Amino acid sequence: ESFHDVDMGEIIMGNVALTRYTRPTPVQKHAIPIIKTKRDLMACAQTGSGKTAAFLLPVLSQIYTEGPGEALQENGKYGRRKQYPISLVLAPTRELALQIYDEARKFAYRSHVRPCVVYGGADIGQQIRDLERGCHLLVATPGRLVDMMERGKIGLDYCKYNALAFNTVTVFYLVLDEADRMLDMGFEPQIRRIVEQDTMPPKGLRQTMMFSATFPKEIQILARDFLEEYIFLAV
Ligand code: AMP
Repeated sequence: ESFHDVDMGEIIMGNVALTRYTRPTPVQKHAIPIIKTKRDLMACAQTGSGKTAAFLLPVLSQIYTEGPGEALQENGKYGRRKQYPISLVLAPTRELALQIYDEARKFAYRSHVRPCVVYGGADIGQQIRDLERGCHLLVATPGRLVDMMERGKIGLDYCKYNALAFNTVTVFYLVLDEADRMLDMGFEPQIRRIVEQDTMPPKGLRQTMMFSATFPKEIQILARDFLEEYIFLAV
């Protein structure tokens, strides 16, 4: 068993080697091939199981091999730019968002793929300036993301924008990490606002992955609402 069982592109595999992850953890072993087949996924996995790499590796490798070289952005009024990331990872806390971002940076090292992170309780101007340098993968806490969208800094309709600008169809990747914790923290309205707004690519143009430590009724309802013919994985 190794990470080489699934093709993830040379640069990303080289970066996995640099992180010294030698063997995939159980959630990585099972989730990576499922995500690579482009199926939606509901995975029950605890913190510490290696779930971050389980979604980051296949998503980054898809963006790396199939996505556009340049991050998509639109010039707005006064030269202000709006970013259209190809993938979005929602996380409950600043700490988790930063951990996911750090791991994404390690895996994307030496590639053109640019991760960004936005979270509340920190200077928004600095986060906006970082976004404006280009963003393929956005890690965000729900409240700050809604704020960024209202300010016109982030657009989620990547698929439509890409199809109009480049006449190519690619899929948008959406990950909800620690979904149960996000609900416990009262983020359901923001999450629904983000996922159910009409600019979010619809189910056929989006691959959605949910990770949760537990699988109570509320998470089952979210899975029913957000996922399409999903695979259920418990490790
Ligand atoms: P996570 O569950 O994603 O928060 O990961 C928990 C910890 O395990 C993190 O510190 C990772 O860097 C580490 N980790 C993830 N996957 C592997 C692996 N395949 N081999 C060794 N360590 C890993």
